[in-house]
Amino acid sequence: MKAVVFHQHGGPDVLQVAEVERPEPGADDVLVRILAAGICHHDVLSRSGKIPGKPGRILGHEIAGEICAVGADVPPARVGEAVVIYQRLFCGTCRYCLTGRQDLCRNSRVLGEQGGGGYAEYACVPARNAVPIPEGVDMTTAALAVCPVGTSVRAALGVAATEPGQIVLVTGAGGGLGLHQIQVAKSVQARVIAVTSSQDKAALVRAAGADEVIVSPDLKFSGEVWRLTGKQGADVVLENVVTGTFGESLRSAAQHACVVVLGNIGAQPVDIDPGLVIMRRIRIAGSGNATFKDVQTALHLLATKAVKPFIGRVLPFPRAAEGHALMERREVTGRVVLQGW
Ligand SMILES: [Zn+2]
Ligand SMILES: [Zn+2]
Repeated sequence: MKAVVFHQHGGPDVLQVAEVERPEPGADDVLVRILAAGICHHDVLSRSGKIPGKPGRILGHEIAGEICAVGADVPPARVGEAVVIYQRLFCGTCRYCLTGRQDLCRNSRVLGEQGGGGYAEYACVPARNAVPIPEGVDMTTAALAVCPVGTSVRAALGVAATEPGQIVLVTGAGGGLGLHQIQVAKSVQARVIAVTSSQDKAALVRAAGADEVIVSPDLKFSGEVWRLTGKQGADVVLENVVTGTFGESLRSAAQHACVVVLGNIGAQPVDIDPGLVIMRRIRIAGSGNATFKDVQTALHLLATKAVKPFIGRVLPFPRAAEGHALMERREVTGRVVLQGW
């Protein structure tokens, strides 16, 4: 089969089309013909060697396609099913998996990080990882169900457990995660205040459904949040930036707020004011991969159009390098999705 591979860390042009062996499904597996694969910021970091992992693998964990073959223990009726692949190959038996927290499984691995990923004609995964795509969701859209939409569901609805009427502050609101988090928060009738550092993105952020947009080039936004909320603050903060914003996010937090940390833009330690955290009983929580259930929620939100995908560019698979370059140069807003050879 054809695949996009890389043999050394480096710039986008290390990504090359190659002929590799097509995986064979084991008894419990399905073989999926990949019809769309999202390019994640994570892939860009993996390719450039900024996060651990060896070159030589097939990147990509945002995969949608069609089951084209099944193993001996999988119902043959699944052949032809449109599916999105849950990206984490989880054990299913540990104490985390058994409570539905596949994202915490320590015996797990993520497609495209360790093992064959989405930049290929086919992927082979355990049948349980292939989640049926509901009616009304096309392949390009489905590729976003795992992340960014699933990741946004985890943060906003899972970790922060956002409720109707709560005030949700989203930093880095014009980014791929932010634009989807706004919509996920609106899907439960929260009030969303979005912060972006660039005037160019304000209209986009408003189009995503934000009730109020703060354009803050100097990243001093807590005063405005305080004013907009009648000195109550935000009940939930979805922090996609952290570097340069975390102090202001804490200052924007309401009593007993949940501040969810998703971003690590600068990969630098940040200061916290323990007095503020104690006084306001602020809960600071990390968030990452979607759980299995989050992906199903994401697909439902996409199918009902409560969340509309932000897709910046669709490119054929052999132009994956171009997709990476666009993302690195921040020349694209929304996901870059690979489709067709
Ligand atoms: Zn991703
Ligand atoms: Zn497990």
